[in-house]
Amino acid sequence: MAVPKIVLFYAFTPLADPRAVQLWQRSLGEQWNLTGRVIVSEHGINATLGGTVENLKQYVKTTKQYPGFAGIDVKWSDGTGRDFPRLSVKVRPELVSFGAVDEIAVDEDGVVDSGVRLAPEALHELVAERGEDVVFFDGRNAFEAAIGKFRGAVVPDVATTRDFVAELDSGAYDDLKGRPVVTYCTGGVRCEVLSSLMLARGFEEVYQLDGGIVRYGETFGDQGLWEGSLYVFDERMHVEFGDDTVPLGACCECGAATAKYENCVDPGCQTLRLFCTDCAGLARTLQCDACAELRPGAYPRPREDAMTGLSHDNHRATA
Ligand SMILES: [Zn+2]
Ligand SMILES: [Zn+2]
Repeated sequence: MAVPKIVLFYAFTPLADPRAVQLWQRSLGEQWNLTGRVIVSEHGINATLGGTVENLKQYVKTTKQYPGFAGIDVKWSDGTGRDFPRLSVKVRPELVSFGAVDEIAVDEDGVVDSGVRLAPEALHELVAERGEDVVFFDGRNAFEAAIGKFRGAVVPDVATTRDFVAELDSGAYDDLKGRPVVTYCTGGVRCEVLSSLMLARGFEEVYQLDGGIVRYGETFGDQGLWEGSLYVFDERMHVEFGDDTVPLGACCECGAATAKYENCVDPGCQTLRLFCTDCAGLARTLQCDACAELRPGAYPRPREDAMTGLSHDNHRATA
């Protein structure tokens, strides 16, 4: 029986001809009936793909034959077989859209001057040694952190990755510049860049969680320093690392714990709000506050206490 899986990987490595890599990756994806997203840039590749385990293995094997991709760290997780609507393979200026393409240099070893990599075990050692001084710095969008994060983490007020540079330059985190700062994100790709941007801005001791939350969750589940659910950029929308995980999100209707975002009922609106299972039916009848203001009466108006929507501009962006 075909077992559906999802692979997540990236490589920062100089690509002389991103367009050629794009065409190659697209034909590979088509050959193995994969769906999902691949971004290619002059700085490397970033991919999240779904398919059968056999087909994905063939795809990964071939992809690793490209010299710059030989060492990719592929994270596997269970899929449903319908996790992505289609296959999308694109060339972009950046692997992740920080809007900082000119600030980042990439060589054969990856991003130049990025944070020190910490495996999950090494992260625990750092916390054991340095205790409360260690700062967890969430490298994701705020709505992702709303359902799960590292205990006590700093969650920057960013709606999209593009907001990070302004957020760092605002001075809001300058008091952390002398402390050990551990950046983390879903699979690690965003922290390669973020940790580099932080070092360039005078943060003195910056680490990045190697393999991201995905690898940490595989190692320690939610018995360690992680709390709640992990937001993922596919149809699953969230994953948990244990059977008894309590998501950190709160239903915008009743306040019950939930990890499930629902789209605004207005077609074309990307705003997400958290609803619990009991209130999920309401999600299909309620506009977000922005839509209710723009097109009043198009759908039943949300109640005052339901207006805690989170903007979610790059829901479809690769983690
Ligand atoms: Zn509820
Ligand atoms: Zn809306």
